[in-house]
Amino acid sequence: MRNPKWTRDELILALDLYFRNPPGKISGDHPEIVQLSALLNQLPVHPQKEKFQKFRNPNGVYMKLCNFLRFDPNYSGKGLQAGGKLEEEIWNEFASNRTKLAQIAASIRENAQYISRPQIGDIPDDEEFQEGKVLTRLHKFRERSPSITKKKKESVLNQKGKLLCEACGFDFEKKYGTLGRGFAECHHMKPLAELRANQKTKLSDLCILCSNCHRMIHRTKPMVSLEEFKKILR
Ligand SMILES: [Zn+2]
Ligand SMILES: [Zn+2]
Repeated sequence: MRNPKWTRDELILALDLYFRNPPGKISGDHPEIVQLSALLNQLPVHPQKEKFQKFRNPNGVYMKLCNFLRFDPNYSGKGLQAGGKLEEEIWNEFASNRTKLAQIAASIRENAQYISRPQIGDIPDDEEFQEGKVLTRLHKFRERSPSITKKKKESVLNQKGKLLCEACGFDFEKKYGTLGRGFAECHHMKPLAELRANQKTKLSDLCILCSNCHRMIHRTKPMVSLEEFKKILR
């Protein structure tokens, strides 16, 4: 019975701890290790039935920190050679941007309690943002809230008379006639690390996108702004 592989959310939290408390300077019973172990046991990223004895116990968490040593140019030893590919990816993405890593980790810690396992379950891997599944889920919640998206579309229709994709100009009504009238997707533009569960979405946080552009902007890593996305389109 093997425990599941470490996911992006978990590795982000581990790498954040690594930079604050390098494993060479602390031992496996350090309070932060114990705390992270407890958090990982509650994180909604794995189904309960896939968690076995010793799942992310303090020793396992400590070993994971040691896995990162092999990428660290400041470490003279070899570090643990074993470890997954995702660890290296996450090291490369964040080692030179620790402020951002710390923000994302803080945001995951703060928001994890509001996201449940079944909600995470329907996010396909290719729609997971660089910031992990907890924050991806929160982003999707924000932009799918029926009341706020309805308001957003109404306000754009009132102002402009049409719902055009703000990136490519696509017009569902023009293409699909009455079937497409009033249809468009809303995308939440706030960086994921700044999302907070109890925060209200403002109309200005949302932009109107067609379904293609919305899928595509979700594939950018890290998520680009609408302006940057338009540059990609050009
Ligand atoms: Zn578009
Ligand atoms: Zn979106």
